[in-house]
Amino acid sequence: MNQTPPERLPDTDAGHHIAAAMLRAGRLVAFPTETVYGLGADATNDRAVARIFEAKGRPSFNPLIVHFAELEDLKQHVVWTDEADTLARAYWPGPLTLVLKKHPGSAISSLVTAGLDTIAVRLPGHPAAQAILGALGRGVAAPSANRSGQISPTQPSHVLDSLGGRLDAVLDGGASEVGVESTIIGLLDKPVLLRPGGITEAELAKTLGRNIAVRHKAEAISAPGQLMSHYAPTARVRLNATDWQTGEMRLGFGEVDCDLNLSADEDLVEAASNLFDYLHRLDARGGEAIAVSPIPHEGLGIAINDRLSRAAAPRDG
Ligand code: AMP
Ligand code: MG
Repeated sequence: MNQTPPERLPDTDAGHHIAAAMLRAGRLVAFPTETVYGLGADATNDRAVARIFEAKGRPSFNPLIVHFAELEDLKQHVVWTDEADTLARAYWPGPLTLVLKKHPGSAISSLVTAGLDTIAVRLPGHPAAQAILGALGRGVAAPSANRSGQISPTQPSHVLDSLGGRLDAVLDGGASEVGVESTIIGLLDKPVLLRPGGITEAELAKTLGRNIAVRHKAEAISAPGQLMSHYAPTARVRLNATDWQTGEMRLGFGEVDCDLNLSADEDLVEAASNLFDYLHRLDARGGEAIAVSPIPHEGLGIAINDRLSRAAAPRDG
């Protein structure tokens, strides 16, 4: 974790370029969008993304929205559809997020998508966000720049009060106007409103010329099978394994003999950054069970254990 106070960058060309250079180097930079201040990390850098979860102190890995400056760059990471095109023309740049199929060749970190084969993308309209993203030329994962459970920041001082020394810089672009998160719409088999926001369901339905199903957050949480599906391996998962049983695929942590090691150095940022990839890789071997070493239940370990215990939970059907 970063101990020195974050740099405060001005909303100028020079500030935007420093912010982009810091992001390129894997550092965490908060910047204004038209909705709220986002805590940004290079979305292709697993470790930088893991540090977002560490800084926010999130108890679980939910998928993050990836922000782009250019539609052409964004399109390389998704399977683009006619409905996506219609909404993009009407509302981008702006406070609308689309959930689409992730392009198989996309280099976006699997931690950003929480191991799912879908991805949430947005082209923000705030000029400072556009300038930073344009200078970087890559996607940036950016949830709200606050500690988990606290309210979303609309000013640099809110970011600093909440995250203090846990980030590397904040770009001071004054107050965010909207103060409400982006509307999220899923465009997979049919349009589904996943999170209400400034752009209403009625507006979106009118633009698309068809009805939009609404999924309430509480329902999604009480019925995990319906949530755009949390990634679960096909293999059975056994947690807190201190020895290995015959035939198990071994996912280690620390100094153990295993098939893949989340972090031989017991570094939780490294472990988080490897988690989804390694689960996928072991699962792809086609064995019946994956055994996982104990992970310390502190800091990022809490989110890692949350994900692992979901993977190990009994399945319905
Ligand atoms: P935040 O980044 O904190 O603004 O929140 C991101 C929101 O987008 C969360 O509510 C996520 O559940 C949602 N989200 C991101 N990616 C996906 C996805 N692939 N499928 C469904 N929801 C997503
Ligand atoms: Mg938030």
